Amino acid sequence: MIAEPAWDVAVVGGGPAGLSAARAAAASGARTIVLERAEHPRYKTCGGGLIGTSMRYASEYIDVPAQDSISSLTFTLNGRRTLTRRGGDRPLLTLVRRDDFDHAWYSAALAAGAVVRQNAQVRAVDEGVVRLADGEEITARVVIGADGSAGITSRHVGVVFEQQDLGLEVELAATPADRRDWQGRVLLDWGPFPGSYGWVFPKNDQLTVGVIMSKGHGAETKRYLTDFVSRMGLSEREVLRDSGHLTRCRRPDSPLRRGSVVVVGDAAGLLEPWTREGISYALRSGTWAGSSWKDLAEYERRVNAELGPEMSAGRRLLNAFCRYPGVIHSLMSTPLGWRAFAAFCRGNVSMAEVIQRRSIRAALAIFRA
Ligand SMILES: Cc1cc2nc3c(=O)[nH]c(=O)nc-3n(C[C@H](O)[C@H](O)[C@H](O)COP(=O)(O)OP(=O)(O)OC[C@H]3O[C@@H](n4cnc5c(N)ncnc54)[C@H](O)[C@@H]3O)c2cc1C
Repeated sequence: MIAEPAWDVAVVGGGPAGLSAARAAAASGARTIVLERAEHPRYKTCGGGLIGTSMRYASEYIDVPAQDSISSLTFTLNGRRTLTRRGGDRPLLTLVRRDDFDHAWYSAALAAGAVVRQNAQVRAVDEGVVRLADGEEITARVVIGADGSAGITSRHVGVVFEQQDLGLEVELAATPADRRDWQGRVLLDWGPFPGSYGWVFPKNDQLTVGVIMSKGHGAETKRYLTDFVSRMGLSEREVLRDSGHLTRCRRPDSPLRRGSVVVVGDAAGLLEPWTREGISYALRSGTWAGSSWKDLAEYERRVNAELGPEMSAGRRLLNAFCRYPGVIHSLMSTPLGWRAFAAFCRGNVSMAEVIQRRSIRAALAIFRA
């Protein structure tokens, strides 16, 4: 006789994708366990910038621990042609520290009835079973892989990635003057290498400064970060943390599931290819997988129908950005370009809708992107 699985849903990884999946699964009545190798609150290399779409998904279930609410954006083109644009009354971005944000999701998953086991490193997954590093086996009807961009579940499912980037970040101690200068404002620098960009995200007593570009150029990425920090006049600040992390985007036809194992968030390569915004993808895919754990084909259908066109639009924008960063920069100074970007930040339109706008469509046609 085959024993009943101990759990309906086992989730590997307790970031935004895994915890939103666990919350949704537990709320739908599933006996749910999360296996997380670290212990919350834990650090994650991330700008912590929430676009409006992330805010919509998050504020329904957690009190978003905002460090700042952004009403203006400064753009530079490799340190030149400074341009500051202001949004209206509604924030363009909300900034969080990932340790606080993920901890809030941890509490939401617990409140919905999920069990979260921390310091539980998963070594392997298979049909109906999760193996921990200490040899313990957890059985479940469905396994949701949410172990991020360097996890093991994407390998099991056979996710194929078509874009891999390396993000480097430093957390700097902000001086009182920094706090005044940066409050309510972020800076985006279109970088010196194709597809690269940098950011300064203020979080009260800290400034998160980071850069991202295609993987395989570690020395150049490091140099871009060092130059960027220096150009911002921040070289003398105390470095509270210095870290890096990969981002990976799936190929459109890549699998999301193998049998009863599905992948969500970064593990599935679900990420906006141009901005590398991933939290809204993690929350959406996690919530959908958790709420359709009894019908995993529905999860696949929804990702392909809703996130597929957004990623495809992001790929076209990245393509244009790699070739013509100066034109993208100039577009931000036009009312049409800025309105489209601001609407995306606020979550009023998706990337797919942005590129349907007549002006953007015309610009992309000129770029042949
Ligand atoms: C430098 C940088 C800046 C970024 N900035 C932004 C931004 O400003 N806004 C935005 O929207 N996105 C940003 N992103 C992307 C965003 O960080 C990710 O898309 C998001 O964290 C994905 O969430 P996730 O839950 O899928 O994965 P993660 O957040 O990576 O969570 C995975 C979890 O799984 C756990 N885990 C891993 N392996 C195992 C294992 N074997 N066993 C058990 N547990 C395991 C990890 O400890 C972790 O808690 C950035 C990414 C980078 C690299």
